[in-house]
Amino acid sequence: MFNETKPAPPDSILGLTEAFRADSNPAKVNLGVGIYKDEQGATPIMAAVKVAEKHLLETQTTKSYLPIPGSPAYSAVVQKLLFGSDSSVFDRARTCHTPGGTGALRVGGDFIKKLNPNATVWVSTPTWANHKGVFGAAGLNIADYRYYDAATNGLDFSAMKADLENVPAGDIVLLHVCCHNPTGVDLEATGWAELASIAKTKGWIPFFDFAYHGFADGLEQDRAAFTPFIDAGIEFFVANSYSKNFGLYNERTGGLTVVAETADAVDAAFSHVKKTIRTNYSNPSNHGGAIVSTILESAELTQQWETELAEMRVRIHSMRKKLVDGIKNHGIDRDFGYIVEQRGMFSYSGLSDENVQALRDKSIYVVGGGRINVAGLTPSNIDAVCAAVADVL
Ligand code: PMP
Repeated sequence: MFNETKPAPPDSILGLTEAFRADSNPAKVNLGVGIYKDEQGATPIMAAVKVAEKHLLETQTTKSYLPIPGSPAYSAVVQKLLFGSDSSVFDRARTCHTPGGTGALRVGGDFIKKLNPNATVWVSTPTWANHKGVFGAAGLNIADYRYYDAATNGLDFSAMKADLENVPAGDIVLLHVCCHNPTGVDLEATGWAELASIAKTKGWIPFFDFAYHGFADGLEQDRAAFTPFIDAGIEFFVANSYSKNFGLYNERTGGLTVVAETADAVDAAFSHVKKTIRTNYSNPSNHGGAIVSTILESAELTQQWETELAEMRVRIHSMRKKLVDGIKNHGIDRDFGYIVEQRGMFSYSGLSDENVQALRDKSIYVVGGGRINVAGLTPSNIDAVCAAVADVL
C-alpha cells in the first residue's frame, strides 16, 4: 500500500517550526506558530494550572472512562465561562469536552455532515488554514466570504455583510469571535448585532470559533459577541479552545457547544454529537478538563488565573506598540499603526511574501502572507526583529 505513496506536503505553520528547529543560528526567532511566550521567551505552565494539578494528583482516585461528552462538571464551567454565569442560554445549550479547539471543529463538522450533508461552511478570507482542512476532511463544501481589506489593513465590514446576506438558509458561517487568526482584525462590538440580525433573517447558522477568549479586551468584553445571537433565539455552535488562555496546548482541552432553539431540540441534536464522538475517539482524556474545572470551581484559583491571563494580554499589547515604534526608530516612514489596533496573538503585518523570505534568510521565521505571532516577541529579540524588518522593506 505504501510503496507508491508520495509524501504529503508539510503543514504550512508546523512545517515552519521544523525549519526553525533545524536552523543553527543562535539568534533565530520563531514568529510563526501561535504559542504565547513570556518576557524570557518561555511558554511556562500557568501558576493556577500548577496548583490545580497538585490538587488533582493528591485527590484523584480513578482513571476510569469519562462519559462520551466528558465530565458534566467541565461542561458546566465551560458554559459559564463562554456565556457568563447569568446567561439565559443554558437550558438550550449542551457542551462536550473535545481534544482542543481543532477537535471541537471536527466533531462539529462531522455532526453537520450527518444532519445536513449538503451544507456549505463559509469562512472568512483569509482564515486559519486548518479551517478548510478540517471541514473539508468532514466532507463539507467550503466557500469564502470577504473579511480583510488589504488597502486599509482593517475589516471590510460592508463586503462581509453583503456576502453574508447571500448565504443560503441552513448553511454554516464560521465566525472568529475575537483575535481573528491570521489577521488580528476583529469586528467592532456593534457589528455582532448586525450579523445576528442577518443570521436570523437569512436562516444561516453561526459557528463561532473561540480560541482566544480573554486575549482581546477581557473575558467579559470578548464574550459579548454572543449576546445578540442569544437574544435572537437562534441556533449556533461554539468551538472553544483552552490551549492559549489556560496554556494547555498539549493537554488538548476544548469544547463544542451546541445551542438550539429549545431544550428538547438541543437534547436530540446533542445525541448525534455523542454518536459522532463515540465513533471518533469514544470519550475525551481527563487531565486538561479536570484542571480547568478545578480552577473555575475555585474563586481563588479563578482570580489567580484571570490575573495571569490579563498579564499575557497586556504583554502582547505592549509588544505591538514596541514593534511599531521600533520599526519607525529604524528609519521606516511607512505607518504600521494598524498593528496596535489589531487584537490577540497575531498580526497581519503587511509584510509581503518577498519580505517574509528575506526575513527567513536572517533566521526570523514568519508565516507566508506576513502573519506575525506578536506573542513571540520579547525584550531580547524585539530590537533585532525591528532592525531586520526595516532592512528587508
Ligand atoms: N481555531 C483557531 C482560530 C486557532 O487559531 C486555533 C489554534 N491555532 C484553533 C482553532 C485550534 O486550537 P487547538 O490548538 O486547541 O486545537
